[in-house]
Order: sequence, then C-alpha cells, then structure tokens
Amino acid sequence: MILLGSTGSIGINTLKIAKEFGLQVETLVAGSNVKLLNEQIREFNPDYVCVGSKELALHVKHKSVAYGQEGILEVIEKSKSNLVVNALVGFLGLKPTIKTLELGKKLALANKESLVVAGHLLDCKKIAPIDSEHFGLWYLLNNRDISKMTIMASGGAFRDTPLSELKNKTPKEALKHPNWSMGRKITIDSATMTNKLFELLEAKWLFNPKKLDAIIETKSIIHAMIDFKDGSSTAHLANADMRLPIAYAILGSVEKEIVPHVDLCSIGSLEFRKIDESHYPIWEIKDELLTNPQRGVVVNRANEIAIDRFFKGELNILQIAEFTKDIFKKFEDVNPKSLEEIFEIDKEIKHYTKENS
Ligand code: NDP
Repeated sequence: MILLGSTGSIGINTLKIAKEFGLQVETLVAGSNVKLLNEQIREFNPDYVCVGSKELALHVKHKSVAYGQEGILEVIEKSKSNLVVNALVGFLGLKPTIKTLELGKKLALANKESLVVAGHLLDCKKIAPIDSEHFGLWYLLNNRDISKMTIMASGGAFRDTPLSELKNKTPKEALKHPNWSMGRKITIDSATMTNKLFELLEAKWLFNPKKLDAIIETKSIIHAMIDFKDGSSTAHLANADMRLPIAYAILGSVEKEIVPHVDLCSIGSLEFRKIDESHYPIWEIKDELLTNPQRGVVVNRANEIAIDRFFKGELNILQIAEFTKDIFKKFEDVNPKSLEEIFEIDKEIKHYTKENS
C-alpha cells in the first residue's frame, strides 16, 4: 500500500493492520516527525518515502526521498501499489485524493476534509471511508428501504463543561478527548462538534440518505444507527478502536477478531443526548450546510484558520464556531462546479481572512 500520513494516529493504526495481515508497504508519507518515520522505514522497508520539506528530507534515512506537496503526488504516481490510504489531515489531503482517483487506484480515505470540500466532484463509489460512523452505516446496510441514518457523537472534551466556563478552556484541555485518542485537529473538531458536521457531509456523499442526523452517545460504543421503513432500527456497536474500520477499508472483508467484543454488562448503561446549539454553536449551520453541501469548502477553510488561531491563543473554543459561521455567511454564494474552483475559493478565503484579521 501507499500510506499517506504514516506518522499520525490513523497512519500508526494502519501500520498495525499491515503488520498483522502481512501487507507490504511500498510508500510512506509523513510531515515532520522524522524520528518516527525513520523507525517506520527500518521496520517496513518501503521503496518510496516523502516528507514535509527539503530540509527534513536530509534527515530521512532512505535512498529515495521526495518532499513537499508535489512530492506526495509524485510518489503516488511512481508507486505500483493499487491501494492508497489517505490519512493526511486537512485540505492538504485533497490533491492526493484527486490524484489517487485519477490513477484509478483504490482509495481508503480517512482524510474526511476531501469529502467535505469536494464530495460533489469526486467519484465516491471508489472510496472506502475510514471513519467509524461510516463504517458502522456501511455495516448496517442490508438492501432494505431506509428512512433515516443517524451517526453518534461523543460530545468531545467539553461535553460536560458548563457553557459559562467554555470560553476559558485551553487548547491543552481541548485535546483531552474522553473516548478516542486521535490527532490534534480532529480532537478540536470533536470538542466543537465540527467533526460531526463534517461526518454528516461525508455520509451524504457516501450514502445519500433522505434523512440524516447526529446525536450524542457519551461512551462511543454505538457509532451509527439506521431506521428502516418497516419501523425497525439497527445499531452498530464496537469498542472505540480505529483498527476495525481501517481493516475493512483496506481488506474489504475481515474474518478474524480485530478488536474485543463489546461487553454490555460491563458497560451497564448508555446515555444519549441531543446536540445543543448553545454548547456547540457550529450546529446552527447544520441544516443550511446539508442543503447546500457544496459550501463545505468554505466551512473547512474557515475552520482550519480558526483552529490555528485557537492554538495561538487568539480565539477561544466558542469563537472557532463564531469565526467559521461569519465566513460561511460572507461567502454564501459559493457554488464550485469544478475542482479548480475549489482550490480558487479556498485561496480566496485564506486571502480574505488575512486581509481582515
Ligand atoms: P494526525 O494529526 O495524527 O496525523 C496527520 C498525518 O498527516 C501525520 O502523519 C502528519 O505527519 C501528516 N502531515 C501533516 N502535514 C503534512 C504535510 N505537510 N506533508 C505530509 N504529511 C503531513 O491526524 P489523524 O491521524 O488523527 O487524522 C488524519 C485524518 O483522518 C484527518 O482527516 C481526520 O479527520 C481523519 N480521521 C481520524 C480519525 C482518528 O481516529 N484519528 C478517525 C476518523 C477520521 P507528521 O505527524 O509527521 O507531521
């Protein structure tokens, strides 16, 4: 396989699956964690490697090291492997997604931002999503008439924090997710509920159900639920471990146990909550975004900028959503009809926010 984002949370779990199933890793792509990348090179002996910059490339112990965003596309093209696992974070993942689909390679996609910004322009039938909720939905599909799909949210780091205290919470506190161990950006996206907004968009492009919603299930045991027209509902339960969706996205089917079964008696009880807009102000734009999903590119860029500012201490956690909603309103006429336009709009928003900060 070609693994993009090998040093991240999904990348590391993907390598565990590769090891367990004896899969060859032809190509490794990382950003700046050269120490871990060098360890992975020693263990998996890839043919091609790519890293974030030319300077970092000097420290990578491999004979063929590409670098930068062009380097990522170059190694995807050079590699013979037919499977790309895209576990890059953010808008950066879009070009590699496009390249993979252009080359007709199979795409196991963790980089949800690709679908958020350009789902309407990508051939989603060729994508195997690496996300527990979408894996859960896929697992539940059974050729029956669906009336509604529901995905579950954990509520993130500040689920139980009183509203009045939210604005004082630090990035360090926001990174303490109650149920999952994940990369920095998605952990903040969980705390603001933007992650679930993105997952609704993902579900729309992947399954296009008539009705789609999300609720909070505090233990992250249930990941997805489908209501069928006949009045019955089924839910997908699994312990919170990304190796399961990764294994399916890579292998298609899995015969052996990847994670231990859920033990209902030791869990005791489950708690469900509605997603409250005052606690998660980004939820106010949910319906508008799902009606106009091509505006995902705006929400994504605004959110990436806002998270950056949150880490710099320029915005508090509630202001991430306020900032994103302002930009969403400002760019309300956006309707990209091509991938080129997606890149132009993304650039335009970056420029606008720089000029107006
Ligand atoms: P991480 O931040 O842990 O990992 C991101 C990866 O991208 C790292 O390998 C990082 O390299 C690499 N990267 C960052 N910048 C560059 C760059 N400029 N060039 C090359 N590589 C770069 O994120 P996650 O693994 O948590 O998430 C990855 C994607 O999967 C996200 O889109 C996320 O939303 C999605 N996802 C994650 C889940 C999870 O459980 N973690 C669940 C479902 C979806 P380095 O660290 O070396 O800088």
